[in-house]
Amino acid sequence: MKAKTTPIIQIHHPLFLEKNIEVWVKLDYKRHTEIQGNKWHKLKLNVREAQKLNKHTLLTFGGAYSNHIASTAAMAKYLNLNSIGIIRGEELKHHPEKWSHTLLKAHQQGMQLEFLNRYDYRLKAQDSFLERLQMQYPDAFIIPEGGSNHYAVDGFQEFMQETNQQLPDWTHLFTAVGTGGTLAGMTKYANEGNSLFSAVESDKTKQIVGVAVLKNADYLKTQIKNWIGPVNSKNANQVNWELLTQYHLGGYAKQTDQLIDFITWFEQEYSIPLDPVYTCKMFYAFFAELALNKIPNRSKVLLIHTGGLQGRQPSTI
Ligand SMILES: *Cc1c(COP(=O)(O)O)cnc(C)c1O
Repeated sequence: MKAKTTPIIQIHHPLFLEKNIEVWVKLDYKRHTEIQGNKWHKLKLNVREAQKLNKHTLLTFGGAYSNHIASTAAMAKYLNLNSIGIIRGEELKHHPEKWSHTLLKAHQQGMQLEFLNRYDYRLKAQDSFLERLQMQYPDAFIIPEGGSNHYAVDGFQEFMQETNQQLPDWTHLFTAVGTGGTLAGMTKYANEGNSLFSAVESDKTKQIVGVAVLKNADYLKTQIKNWIGPVNSKNANQVNWELLTQYHLGGYAKQTDQLIDFITWFEQEYSIPLDPVYTCKMFYAFFAELALNKIPNRSKVLLIHTGGLQGRQPSTI
C-alpha cells in the first residue's frame, strides 16, 4: 500500500523576509482524495496488522464530523474490508436526516454506524468495554478514537523519510494536534533517512512544534512522550518537541472571528485550502509565533498540511 509522494512548496510573505526565514508547506492533503494526510499514515500499519490477524473488519470511534471516521470508511472500502463506526450521540440513531455529511458519506461507503450515548462513549478506552466489544464483533480489528496507537505512530517513519529527502535541512516543523499520535510519529522519526553527513553538515537542532486544537491539552503530553519513546539522536540531529496549548481559539472545532478572517486571507493569498478544525489553527499559530519573534533568524520552517478537507463541506445539521 503505497501512496504518491506529496509536494513541498515554498510560500512567501514580507514578514518572512524581515525575519530572514524560509517557510515551506508540505501539501500532504494530496496524499489521497479521501484518506488525507496524517490519516493515511496512521491507518496504514493498523490495516497491515488487521490483515496479519486475518480480521476483515475495521472498528473505530468518533464524533459526527470526525476525519478519522471518514478516512477509516474510505480505507475499508478501498481494501475491500468491512467497517464499523461507533459514533458519539445516541440522538442520531433514528434520525438519519440529522446526520452530518461525514456520517452520510461513511454510510454510503459501507460503514456500519452504531450510536452511543455520551456517557457510554466515555468508557470506550476501558479494557472491560473493549473486551465486550470484541466479543460482540469477533472479526473486528479495533482502532482507538482518532486512530492513535503505536501502529499509527510508526506509520510516520515512511512519511518522515519522504519529507527529509525533499527538505533535509528544515529546522522547525509545525503540525496540528488532536490526540498527539501524529506529533509523536513525526518526532520519533524526525531524523529518518538523514545521513550522518547531512546531520553533521547542518549541525542544527530540529524543533517539532505541535499546535493543540482543543482546550486544556496539557494532559496529552504524557501520552505523546510515551509514544515517542527514546529517540536515538546518535549520529543525527538533536530533536526537541513542544506542544503549544494556547491556540485552541475557544476549543475543539470552535472558531473566533479572528480565525475566520485569517482563513479567508490565507486561502486567498496562497491558494491552499484549509480544514476548519486542524490545519487552520496550525497555520494561524505559526504566524502568531512568528509575530512574537519565537522563530529564530535563518530558520527553515516546514508546515505540514495534514488534510481534513472533507470537513469543509457544508454541514447538514
Ligand atoms: C486527525 C487530524 C489531526 C490530528 O492528528 P492526531 O494524531 O490526532 O494529533 C491533524 N490534522 C488533521 C487534518 C486531522 O484530520
